[in-house]
Amino acid sequence: MTEPVSPNSDGLHKLAHISRQLGRNKAFVQGGGGNTSFKNDAHCMWVKASGSELAHVTPDNGFVAVDYAGIRKGLSACGTESEYTGLVRSAILSESDAANVRPSIEAGFHALLGPCVLHSHSVITNLLACAKDGAALTAAILPHAVWVPYASPGLPVTQSVMDRIIALQALANGTAVLLLQNHGLVVAAHTPEEAWQLHEEVNESVRSHFHLPPPVVEEAPFCAADAEHLLFPDQAVYLGHETLRLSKAGEETQQAYNYLRQTMQALGLAPNFLPVEEADFLLNMEAEKYRQKVAKS
Ligand SMILES: [Zn+2]
Repeated sequence: MTEPVSPNSDGLHKLAHISRQLGRNKAFVQGGGGNTSFKNDAHCMWVKASGSELAHVTPDNGFVAVDYAGIRKGLSACGTESEYTGLVRSAILSESDAANVRPSIEAGFHALLGPCVLHSHSVITNLLACAKDGAALTAAILPHAVWVPYASPGLPVTQSVMDRIIALQALANGTAVLLLQNHGLVVAAHTPEEAWQLHEEVNESVRSHFHLPPPVVEEAPFCAADAEHLLFPDQAVYLGHETLRLSKAGEETQQAYNYLRQTMQALGLAPNFLPVEEADFLLNMEAEKYRQKVAKS
């Protein structure tokens, strides 16, 4: 194993700062959702550890260094979720980390994109990502964004991003905006500050298009959800498990759903619900089970 760069590196400090800023806004991140990363050099990428909350990450706690060049190289040979999980875990650069933490299950698409990547579950861009005609709306409102059709978290969503890498390269020099259908927003830029700026601009474009005030998700009226009316993967994780449903993370996830349902109705957007078999799959996914365990501890 190669020794990673010191956690005191400037890029990691900036990433931690921007990650907390992103994580503190409940319109952008709910519970343990969302993840961020920064590529320090040609090999080392700091990525959020699974189970950490963006609102509380520090340079010393909540990130794990992985060899992203190794992940990129290995991805095309991954055929199964366990091969993918094995690839991501074997890329961890420090032995003590390897024993104690796991990189976010989204580390695969982070590895593929530009120097700093922020992934949020913004309720503003999710108005598009969870709408029936989301792809067309996105093309009209965010012409530079790449629409990524729905795929389960982990290897499938990474493969879905990989399939669009040509479109992404057309956007040039490490900057990219991706809208993951029924999931969230991904932005990539050169530095954590530039990525934050881009994340703000994208959200602002959608908000001003619909003439929406800044969302206060806590104020949206409760809207019950069952397995047939889920809009995004985290709902299956939190809402399908009683202890988690009643946790702070579960409550925040519910609030995001309340906001989406209420605002979509007000705007006349038809919701595009996840297929029921996808909800069942998410509840049984090994990596998600791990996250449930972490969320409980
Ligand atoms: Zn996500």
